[in-house]
Amino acid sequence: MLLVESRNANNQVDFKEAILHPNAKEGGLYTPLELPQFDGLKYADLNYKDFALELIKSFDFGSEELFEKALQSYENFDDKFCPIFLRKIDDKLFINELYHGPTRAFKDMALQPFGVLLREFSKDKKILIICATSGDTGPATLKSFENSKNIKVVCMYPQGGTSAIQALQMRALDRGNLKVFAIKGNFDDAQNTLKNLLIKAEFKEKLNQLGYELSAANSVNFGRILFQIIYHYYAAVKIGKGEEIDIIIPSGNFGNALGAYYAKKMGANIARIKIASNANNILTELFTKGEYDLRNKSLKKTISPAMDILVSSNIERLFFDKFGDKRTKELMLLLKNEKYFSLQKCELKALKEDFDADFCDDDLCMSFIKQNKILIDPHTATCFKFQDKNRTSIIASTAEWTKFTPSMVKALYDRECKDEKEDLLKISKQYNFEVKKELLALFDLENQVSRTYEMSEIENKILEWIKQ
Ligand SMILES: *Cc1c(COP(=O)(O)O)cnc(C)c1O
Repeated sequence: MLLVESRNANNQVDFKEAILHPNAKEGGLYTPLELPQFDGLKYADLNYKDFALELIKSFDFGSEELFEKALQSYENFDDKFCPIFLRKIDDKLFINELYHGPTRAFKDMALQPFGVLLREFSKDKKILIICATSGDTGPATLKSFENSKNIKVVCMYPQGGTSAIQALQMRALDRGNLKVFAIKGNFDDAQNTLKNLLIKAEFKEKLNQLGYELSAANSVNFGRILFQIIYHYYAAVKIGKGEEIDIIIPSGNFGNALGAYYAKKMGANIARIKIASNANNILTELFTKGEYDLRNKSLKKTISPAMDILVSSNIERLFFDKFGDKRTKELMLLLKNEKYFSLQKCELKALKEDFDADFCDDDLCMSFIKQNKILIDPHTATCFKFQDKNRTSIIASTAEWTKFTPSMVKALYDRECKDEKEDLLKISKQYNFEVKKELLALFDLENQVSRTYEMSEIENKILEWIKQ
């Protein structure tokens, strides 16, 4: 199967090309023209990896061995045989814990196997990946490419804009083929610096002279979306057993939710996909009012930073599937130029066929954290507002709470956190939770950042580092 550009379906590439060069000609995203059909129930008895292989096979991208190798990366998750954990809360509510990988965030679910693919595809070339992170993508990307021979990774994060643990996770990986920059500014600044570098011809040329090609590992890369379809389908089969279920998803860039939508289109028994947001409720507005309005909006800082997003990139793939390439291009250009678009009534209706959306502010999230018998992180907490006692629901849980101790302390004890390690241990003792020793060991690292960089310095700093 070939992948097509969301803004012009005549631009077609194969899977390898879409992975290596995810930035399509007209600014769109590579995406399937049509989703293949997959009868997951038929494979209900398979283990996760074999189920995943069957699902991927239905795309007909070729090279089964390659995907088998990619899926082997799940063997370093908590349970060697299954990267996810399906936790039953009651007869109607389940939690799909997607954070049992090396960096304790669901980003590992896609970035671990994606790393294997990119390594295989870069055997005869050298690749530079740059990422901007508000906390989870950075550690997961660095970890995925640790010790890769032909791939270098540069990761930028806003100094003070991530949790302390997340910054430590990145500092711990700042060596060899991996480089970490703490920058002055917020996540949007980091993201803009990244976007400008990715399209700057002069920068690319200088990289080429040094023998490097530029690629991207963010969730616009279809190679990540592929692995995000599987766990939704698998959970729907294991829990629904043929009956319909709803999936509730804490959303930002819409990669996770898009995975659930693709699973549904492929044949999973998913009824409603419920999009949970924090106070940055741009997706709630889109799915309830049919409007995307960035005018006079600025990013609010919340206790769920990975969802502090105003431009949700993967919406574009949903539009392509629902409205086609011409309308998608029109809408995305309106958003870029006018900072606003409004869907037609029938278009909004088409979105509502599959999606519900709502948002949850920090206070409400904290009350859900406090009420729960198990520990849930502030991102997952946005989902509980959607609970419906009459329907079987699966909440996609995106991070381990251990990465957000200060917010957990506020929610559970209504006080400020003074010593993060001490409070982490206190909470884990109270809830009988076993903290990974790798995570605890991070507290022994020095978190003294030697330097914070101006955005304008980054380009030269990257080139200098590559030359070394
Ligand atoms: C990335 C992330 C999200 C948002 O996922 P999208 O696929 O971007 O919608 C939610 N929660 C956590 C913890 C994340 O790291």
